[in-house]
Amino acid sequence: GPAIAFERVTKRYADGTIAVDAVSLAVEPGSFVALVGASGSGKSTLLKTVNRLVVPSEGRVLIDGVDVSEGAAWQLRRRIGYVFQNIGLFPHLTVAQNIALPLRLDGRNDRARVDALLDTVELPDSLASRTPAELSGGQRQRVGVARALATDPGLLLMDEPFGALDPVTRESLGQAIVRLQRERRLTVLMVTHDMAEALLDAARVLVMERGRVVADTTPAALIAGE
Ligand code: ADP
Ligand code: ADP
Repeated sequence: GPAIAFERVTKRYADGTIAVDAVSLAVEPGSFVALVGASGSGKSTLLKTVNRLVVPSEGRVLIDGVDVSEGAAWQLRRRIGYVFQNIGLFPHLTVAQNIALPLRLDGRNDRARVDALLDTVELPDSLASRTPAELSGGQRQRVGVARALATDPGLLLMDEPFGALDPVTRESLGQAIVRLQRERRLTVLMVTHDMAEALLDAARVLVMERGRVVADTTPAALIAGE
């Protein structure tokens, strides 16, 4: 079955805005899917229904066939990595402590795991004892990705993860995530307003407009102008 299934998901905010309008779709396990669309088209809202930062007004979301509204949200979120722009690293903790935080909440204090995660996001071990303020923007974003992967989630949600990065950093971090997705069959759902960015990494591109998915396509078809 699908890694994520959206079943007629609608989100109406308190002010009446319909941010997501009866969206149904399935995301295959181990796939890299981009949600693309203009600002305000509902991408973030749809993404956040997966980790229940947003609760749908109607419809439901299933992960591996299980309704995400069953069980505790914190248990759900331990199985889902979440990366967003300017990810909130704790400024008074070192890089290693930031990455290790989700492991500690699990009662693990595993230095080898921190080293492996630094390696995954292509950061040198020598940065482990620095604080976030002593890193470049790209390095901080890599730390955010490493922290999101700490509990070895099967699902990675990314909301404009590369927005603030220069093109070279953006490409190498994107490639590191694609490698991980292929090697570990990680399912990745990424929100971006930038079609070029979606085409670089995703095998499937969903285009959103006014709360609806108006196209479900592939980079090859888009480039061929289909
Ligand atoms: P995108 O990620 O594509 O920029 P969003 O999901 O953030 O789109 O927003 C979709 C629509 O919902 C927009 O009209 C936005 O203003 C509105 N919206 C987003 N969050 C809220 C909120 N908390 N309360 C009310 N309206 C919201
Ligand atoms: P505390 O003093 O609060 O225990 P530490 O900084 O010693 O914090 O460790 C926090 C986490 O980061 C632990 O999981 C530890 O194994 C890991 N860690 C600490 N320093 C490094 C390092 N240089 N390289 C990799 N992991 C490290």
